[in-house]
Amino acid sequence: SADSAMYRAKEQGRNNFQFFAPWMDSQVSNRLEMLISLRRALDQQEFKLFYQPKLSLKDGSIIGAEALIRWESPEQGMISPDRFIPFAEEAGLIVPIGEWVLRTACRQNKAWQDAGLPPVPVAVNLSPRQMNPALPDFVADVLAQSGLAAAWLELEITENVVMKDAEKTVAALHALKRLGLQISVDDFGTGYSSLSYLRRFPVDALKIDKSFVRDIARDADSAAIVKAVISLAHILNLRVIAEGVEDEEQHAFLKENGCDEVQGYYFGKPMTAADFTRRLGEEAGRLGEAR
Ligand code: C2E
Ligand code: MG
Ligand code: MG
Ligand code: MG
Repeated sequence: SADSAMYRAKEQGRNNFQFFAPWMDSQVSNRLEMLISLRRALDQQEFKLFYQPKLSLKDGSIIGAEALIRWESPEQGMISPDRFIPFAEEAGLIVPIGEWVLRTACRQNKAWQDAGLPPVPVAVNLSPRQMNPALPDFVADVLAQSGLAAAWLELEITENVVMKDAEKTVAALHALKRLGLQISVDDFGTGYSSLSYLRRFPVDALKIDKSFVRDIARDADSAAIVKAVISLAHILNLRVIAEGVEDEEQHAFLKENGCDEVQGYYFGKPMTAADFTRRLGEEAGRLGEAR
């Protein structure tokens, strides 16, 4: 109920990412409130992008950044995407929010490159609703306006995106690939896809879902699934990246089993653009010393 939600919210404090607000209730009035808040958030620029490093398992260098949205609400504090993206999708606001994310991430990446930092692709998450026939032209416009070369943009789609309308999705994905960007399948292993789409869809990488990575050391099935996905990716000539890596044991397992890339708290939490700038600066120093 709203009361208990409010109680939990108070208990957890306003800066907690797990903040559970009263408007999460399924009542119509609360949904309307949510819709109004999200609209305002878009107009008032209350959204922020955080960036999380992706690292190569060969040498530990930073080989990418994933852009992750946060909502800095004046009333509620920092709100994580799991709490509002589903509402934005339902309310039809995911398209304008997604456009803001894409524009901001491309501009930011171009700024890093212009500052002479080591160039890395920036990855942007796409909701199923964004996967429409207008998307390739929109992405092309954003790239042109930001001046970012397509090779430095990656789009993360989920298996469920792919399942929605296979024919239309294939066409859109091919149009996106023609721009020269990278496409990866996020949360791989959690969706309902068949293996056959992996052949038909022009994707470049698989991201092993963090639920499998989390249990690598404790659960033989998770370990077997991770190994199988790594093999599958390589057979299909795809890169494979593990998300949610939190400790050395998981890192060692992934490295031993030939995973290409890692991402997780063990290597760096999602951070502000300013913090990621510093991280890339340190990387530049490291590369300089290695030379
Ligand atoms: P995702 O794309 O699978 O992103 C990975 C999530 O795992 C992120 O949560 C990240 O902060 C978290 N994470 C990273 N490393 C670790 C780790 O070591 N341990 C654990 N436990 N978690 C880790 P976040 O930022 O809360 O985002 C949640 C989801 O919200 C994302 O999952 C993505 O599906 C969605 N999302 C985020 N930003 C956007 C966006 O701009 N647009 C859309 N459509 N969806 C977004
Ligand atoms: Mg993602
Ligand atoms: Mg993921
Ligand atoms: Mg995930």
